Amino acid sequence: MSNSAASKVLSELREYDRELQLLKHGCAVLQWDQETYMPPAAAEERAEQLGVFETLVHDRIADDRLGELLELAGASPNNLLGSEDLPYRDRALIRLLFREHLKARRVPRDLVGRLARAASAGQTAWRAARAEDDFAAFKPQLEELVALAQERAECLGYEEHPYDALLDQYEPHMTTAEVSRVFHELEQRLVPLVSRIAEAPQLDDTFLYREFPEDIQETFGARVLREIGWPSNRGRLDISTHPFTIGLGRDDVRITTRYDRGFFNAAFFSMLHEAGHGLYELGFADEIRGSMLADGTSLGIHESQSRFWENVVGRSRAFWKRYYPALQGAFPTALAEIDYEAFYRAINKVRPSLIRVEADEVTYSLHVILRFRLETALFSGDLASAELPDAWREESRRLLGVVPESDAEGVLQDVHWSMGGFGYFPTYALGNLFAAQFTEALEAELGPLAPLLERGEFAEILAWLRQRIHAHGSARTATELVSDITGRNLEGEPFMRYLHAKFGEIYALD
Ligand code: ZN
Repeated sequence: MSNSAASKVLSELREYDRELQLLKHGCAVLQWDQETYMPPAAAEERAEQLGVFETLVHDRIADDRLGELLELAGASPNNLLGSEDLPYRDRALIRLLFREHLKARRVPRDLVGRLARAASAGQTAWRAARAEDDFAAFKPQLEELVALAQERAECLGYEEHPYDALLDQYEPHMTTAEVSRVFHELEQRLVPLVSRIAEAPQLDDTFLYREFPEDIQETFGARVLREIGWPSNRGRLDISTHPFTIGLGRDDVRITTRYDRGFFNAAFFSMLHEAGHGLYELGFADEIRGSMLADGTSLGIHESQSRFWENVVGRSRAFWKRYYPALQGAFPTALAEIDYEAFYRAINKVRPSLIRVEADEVTYSLHVILRFRLETALFSGDLASAELPDAWREESRRLLGVVPESDAEGVLQDVHWSMGGFGYFPTYALGNLFAAQFTEALEAELGPLAPLLERGEFAEILAWLRQRIHAHGSARTATELVSDITGRNLEGEPFMRYLHAKFGEIYALD
């Protein structure tokens, strides 16, 4: 193809992509509104509106014209990046568009519809089953959702394990074998650490459950967000039942939180968490903003950014050395006689528990490993849906040393399976691992994090994250990013080093 023909194909591809992203952002406005300010009676039509928008997005991705353009740019199933003489960003865009195009073509429309209906019925059935602690009531829907996910995996294709195709939706290019390897290594190290902590004297965190007026929580949280670099001209903080982050445009990222008057951690740490996601979304390089490349490269990398701000920064001693006097001043009744050391320990209390979303930094990944084991067994045919409650109890005993007395606190606790979201869970633990690897790289370049946090030099930290991680968006895959930044592959060791250093000191382990 001549140079001018090639550049014509590229500019048509870019324009095609630009309109696709505008459509998606329109969809996102409707979704954000649905979760925040929409009056309840609007729910029915909003579902219809979203259905129409999502079909438009799907059709545009599956369109023959996009396939032709990608082919003209040199893309094929064996060459996702297109012609080698194209600039690097265009090749990355071609890879993304081509992957989405293939997926949309491989999964028949009829199956997409059945998946959407099963997910909707599944959530209704799951909510009722969880409220009644009745797994049997959810089992038929669960079986259908597993069968449909299996069917979807077969349509998408995979090399080794059907679960590869499911995982790839959330963590592109990651394989079941790779996650298994890292999780196995992690489990071997985490289980003994958890038991050593359990044998140590326990910490008092009761004062975190005193009264924390919502308006003061909001003022304090907003101040911290501003200081770590949250730009109020490009983002908003609102309230929703479940905190989330959503990008509505090139210069518009929304985060939400939920205030609990009787528990300090609930809003503050979820705010930092969502701000971490939001800062990633706001940090894409100017050249890729508004294109499909302006997106998190994987959910694991996304989660590494939220957990970095929530845990590595927000649950560190240095951070509170800076902010605790202000916090104590803001909540004199709750915290007057609590010193900063006691506060730091309390927000880091480790306690093997039943519920994933309430888990601490040490036990959290074990909750994820449990779900990963059950999911992969479901899709390799080694486990039937009916056997899940027992398998859950057994794994919980083995990994966490606690056994749920009810299914509501066990196999029914998470929403993901009821929506057909198999393959999602591993990304939470991968986020912890990526965050630890990135933190070591950051410290190797900028020096120890603690003095930077104590002095409030967040701009320097954010600039590093921007340049090394955020700016690339999806132009670099998760694996490429980790290898660019750390010179290594995904590994569990840095995370374990981080946990041993931090919790070894808190719990005086030798
Ligand atoms: Zn998150």
